[in-house]
Amino acid sequence: MLEPTPRARDTVAAVRELVRDEVMPLEPKLAAKGFGGVLPDLERVRARVKERGLWAPYLPRDRGGQGLSLYDYAFVSEELGRSPLGHFAFHCQAPDVGNMELLLSHGTDEQKKRFLDPLAAGKVRSCFSMTEPDNAGSNPIHMSTRAVKDGDDYVITGRKWFTSSAQGAAFAIVMAVTNPDAESPYGRASQIIVPTDTPGFTRVRNVQVMGEAGEDWLSHAEVTYDAVRVPQSNRLGPEGAGFMLAQERLGPGRIHHCMRWIGICERAMDLMCKRAATRHLSPGKPLGTRQVVQMWIAESRAEIHASRLMVLSAAHAIDEKGSHGARDEIGIIKFYVAGVLQRVLDRAIQTHGALGLTDETPLAGWYRHERAARIYDGPDEVHKVALARRILRGYGLDVR
Ligand SMILES: Cc1cc2nc3c(=O)[nH]c(=O)nc-3n(C[C@H](O)[C@H](O)[C@H](O)COP(=O)(O)OP(=O)(O)OC[C@H]3O[C@@H](n4cnc5c(N)ncnc54)[C@H](O)[C@@H]3O)c2cc1C
Repeated sequence: MLEPTPRARDTVAAVRELVRDEVMPLEPKLAAKGFGGVLPDLERVRARVKERGLWAPYLPRDRGGQGLSLYDYAFVSEELGRSPLGHFAFHCQAPDVGNMELLLSHGTDEQKKRFLDPLAAGKVRSCFSMTEPDNAGSNPIHMSTRAVKDGDDYVITGRKWFTSSAQGAAFAIVMAVTNPDAESPYGRASQIIVPTDTPGFTRVRNVQVMGEAGEDWLSHAEVTYDAVRVPQSNRLGPEGAGFMLAQERLGPGRIHHCMRWIGICERAMDLMCKRAATRHLSPGKPLGTRQVVQMWIAESRAEIHASRLMVLSAAHAIDEKGSHGARDEIGIIKFYVAGVLQRVLDRAIQTHGALGLTDETPLAGWYRHERAARIYDGPDEVHKVALARRILRGYGLDVR
């Protein structure tokens, strides 16, 4: 259960090697010059990844990937997670990967040709625009953005924020209410593809997050839709199916995130142990001789091991039963592994002392960047409440 299947073993090994030899060496430049400064080098590595046949391994072969199952892709994602640049180098970065999955499963032939093909080839980027500043993103059935039919078009009006990667994206997949009177609140919204050069689409600003300005690939943008007109043929899936599609998108997405977090934990663990073994408190007394550091190491190892087993089990469940059938497993890993990530990073930073707060290791950047893990794709509390309610239903208590 802890190994990739035989067909993916070579891929995982090749990815590990490339991350170590070509991606990790870019990290000092990333720390010194930011993402924009390292982008030309990253593009060079992306070309190498393509040459080696390792590009976007979750995509089917006829779309330029390797057609890995989610279970096998989980091992790749862990390898990529060991570097802050790993997922970008292999074209596995959010939100593009989730959008590609959506287009693959629900796009029409025309949508695939126009939007999926250039995205899969890495020629363009995309974003996903659901969360609104004026409504609780945790419960997105309350959404103000409207898409109203006019002839063959939709006219979209609304305001979003935290539309990640919007700066430089060629298109957005937008959640908008198309059926305000639908009986079920889950049947009111649809997902609609909006090319970002459509009149009325405005990226107002990039929201600064945890002290980081966030540009281009790393932007989290406020976006307004001011009577944005797109053909109805840009809708993904049936009208009113927006939430169903969003749930479907998030299932595999949580495996991608959680395995990336496990990769981060492994790297943090490695740095913590190296520091514990080599930093001397006094001659002959390295940090690792202190029991508190030993506790951090043992607890981290146990939590990472548990996380990996849980995520692989969830990936297997999605492969077998689909996202809906694996709801419990998906909810559990989302809050559990996000918590492990925070704790392991915190212990690794503590072991490094002041060095841990500098950008001379990747720890501080991850600490800033990954605090969001407990919020995006559903805050911890939402997943815990939903899981507990499903469990209680089995005991005859229907909490609403
Ligand atoms: C880095 C980052 C990237 C993001 N990228 C995107 C993106 O690309 N596209 C996009 O559309 N959105 C994106 N988001 C938005 C994200 O999905 C929302 O932030 C998330 O859904 C939470 O919504 P909210 O921020 O409005 O919090 P709110 O809904 O206002 O919730 C605030 C807090 O209330 C608590 N809470 C909520 N519900 C419950 C409950 N039922 N019981 C108990 N407590 C509860 C939780 O602690 C929660 O953190 C991103 C967010 C971040 C931080």
